Amino acid sequence: MSDTPRFHKARPPGKSRIVGPARLPDGATTMAYRAVQPYVCEQCGAEIAPDALFSRRTIQRAQTLATNLARMPVCTDCRPLRVEGDGDGLVSDAGAPLG
Ligand SMILES: [Zn+2]
Repeated sequence: MSDTPRFHKARPPGKSRIVGPARLPDGATTMAYRAVQPYVCEQCGAEIAPDALFSRRTIQRAQTLATNLARMPVCTDCRPLRVEGDGDGLVSDAGAPLG
């Protein structure tokens, strides 16, 4: 099977892609993302390289009247992810298509 690049057009230039549900070490579930462009981890300041997995933390920033929700990227060193799915948590970070 081959990917059709058509789908790309439906969305604005993405900086990350949703990988799917993942589990955190404390048992909570979160959403796993794959970086398309480099990010900076909100917790440790390390760079999240393209193709690396990361999660997001929703941070409430109280501003004058409206509450601003910011979703900050967090690297897998700070929050190890276990992607749920048909694998057993192992995710290839090479990005190469497997035949
Ligand atoms: Zn980090």
